[in-house]
Amino acid sequence: MYSYAFRAVVLLLCSTACVIAQKPRAIQIRVDLTDAPRRLIHVSEVLPVHAGVNTFSYPEWIPGQELPAGAIDNLTGLVFYAGTLEGAVVPWRRDLVDPFAFHVQVPEGVNTLAVSFDILDVKSRAQTTTTKHTSSHVAMLEFSDVVLYPSDTPVREIPITASIHLPADWRAATALRTSATDASTLVGPDATFKTVSVEQLVDSPIVAGDHCRQYPLAPDVKPVHTLDVCAEKAADLELKPEFLAHMNALVRQSTKIFVGHHFEHYDFLVADSKHLDGDAEEHTQSADYIVNSLDVSDENTASFVGYLLPHEFTHSWCGKYRRPAGEATPDYHTPMQNDLIWVYEGFTQYLGDVLTTRAGFQTDPETVDQLNYAIYQIDRPGRRWRSVQDTSDAAAILRGNSRPWSNWRLSQDYYPAGAIMWLDADLKIRELSHGTKSLDDFATLFFAPPAKGSASRDTGPGVLPFTFDDVVKALNTVAPYDWKKFWETRLNALSVQTVIAGIDASGYDYVESDKMPADEAKFIATGQLAEMYHSLGFLAVKDGTVADVWMGSPAYVSGLGPGDKLTAVDGKPYTVDALVAAVREAKTGTASITLTAVREDETKTFVIAYHGGEKYATLVRNGKPDVLTTGILQAR
Ligand SMILES: [Zn+2]
Repeated sequence: MYSYAFRAVVLLLCSTACVIAQKPRAIQIRVDLTDAPRRLIHVSEVLPVHAGVNTFSYPEWIPGQELPAGAIDNLTGLVFYAGTLEGAVVPWRRDLVDPFAFHVQVPEGVNTLAVSFDILDVKSRAQTTTTKHTSSHVAMLEFSDVVLYPSDTPVREIPITASIHLPADWRAATALRTSATDASTLVGPDATFKTVSVEQLVDSPIVAGDHCRQYPLAPDVKPVHTLDVCAEKAADLELKPEFLAHMNALVRQSTKIFVGHHFEHYDFLVADSKHLDGDAEEHTQSADYIVNSLDVSDENTASFVGYLLPHEFTHSWCGKYRRPAGEATPDYHTPMQNDLIWVYEGFTQYLGDVLTTRAGFQTDPETVDQLNYAIYQIDRPGRRWRSVQDTSDAAAILRGNSRPWSNWRLSQDYYPAGAIMWLDADLKIRELSHGTKSLDDFATLFFAPPAKGSASRDTGPGVLPFTFDDVVKALNTVAPYDWKKFWETRLNALSVQTVIAGIDASGYDYVESDKMPADEAKFIATGQLAEMYHSLGFLAVKDGTVADVWMGSPAYVSGLGPGDKLTAVDGKPYTVDALVAAVREAKTGTASITLTAVREDETKTFVIAYHGGEKYATLVRNGKPDVLTTGILQAR
């Protein structure tokens, strides 16, 4: 019998074959980055059309982003012409319901339209995180920002030939290949790439700049992996040997887990610039990273790039090739369904952390701290009404929300909760198989299934959609168990204890302690924060402003709210130390803690009857073997 996923691959192959048979004319797109230093991108396209109304769409639902984040408000200067850019102007009208779609009445006898427009590289109203992707020396180009495509055809069936025009001394790197060579090489200032589908083009960003260098990685691993860096200064291209050693280890360790690959070659595309907004996006044959340093001797850089690089790389398998059915949409105007994003992002979060550690980017204790933080993020009052499944279903509205009352709304819990649940699954497989199997075996089977009629698990780029049942089935193949119940129990739970039910088998318990975990203590001290969530029930930032108050906590009961600015503790001027001292004193006494705070223009008093002392959530070793540091996190 065909599984749903297998049928989808057959359809994909058939549709590719059909395209070849019909030989549709390719769109030509030219992207001019010569004005990137002043945050303008000039674009022109030549579009095959038919007489009558033709509709073109600008990407709204962009793969890798679970919400409609297309920056349509940054598309400006739009003009259509008959034939070529020298042809007669053809009027257009925006769709009244879908502002991402443009209707053009094509006159009889015209079979090609040219279109020109400018993309502003500025903050879009739709963007929740980052904006600036161009600067005087470096740019990261996402084709989803610059392409108009025919609305009536699946994007994988639309051929497109892209060319770029860069400032004279710039070069570019990308997973796209020019017609001249199949090798990974820097191109520019002008380059035309081999014709691909619109789907592949949008999946193939370009990093460009005036200081670029390529670093071949792990030459013993095939397909070829390359690190491509464009930086503000030539000196930034002198990468530290330990960083390159981690990158080589990342490639080798990932290959040991997945065995097969879904790319013909892979490019880690890095823009190293403090003038761009930090960002990262996964793709099948590459990932793009905007960082402000690759110097991993700096602790903060090490933890940032050490997290990002393995995470987005893992997505080549989880999210790009194996994609939740609801996110495997035919185009960028069909809304996505995010119900399985706890696999897409959750599995990637977990395996990314494992790979980060196995590649040497971080130590075992640092990874344990990270898992601790993952639980900390999902252990919030909103868990009483909102399941992890609902944070997945509602993913399109849970990125970039405001801080006040976020403990009650919750956020993208499918990342941290997903990581913890997949740790739990890893532990369960190890237990069921008496240590002979692990989640690595599931990763190989599920994310790189054997190609039909071939001993190799390597495929070219493509999409193999999956359903919840496919996940359950693969887990059952690795280690028979009631995996359906395993996931449904955790995903639908309205208590954190149920979500993290099995993690004690790792050798660690999640407990409340009067001692703050070391990494959290460092973070709190650096930011001069008052972290009282598990005791009084709030967090205050450096100047005493309350960032959030836990629903139902003693502070909540006292009437304290987000935005209130603390000025005094038991009559003494507010400091973090004074607050901590008051909590300690109240533990042995009977007096309540009195906080004074300013709300709008008024001074208010909040009396908190709390005598539980300091409380912080932390992972501590239990009496069971430490499976994390002696097994899961060990390099293979
Ligand atoms: Zn991700």
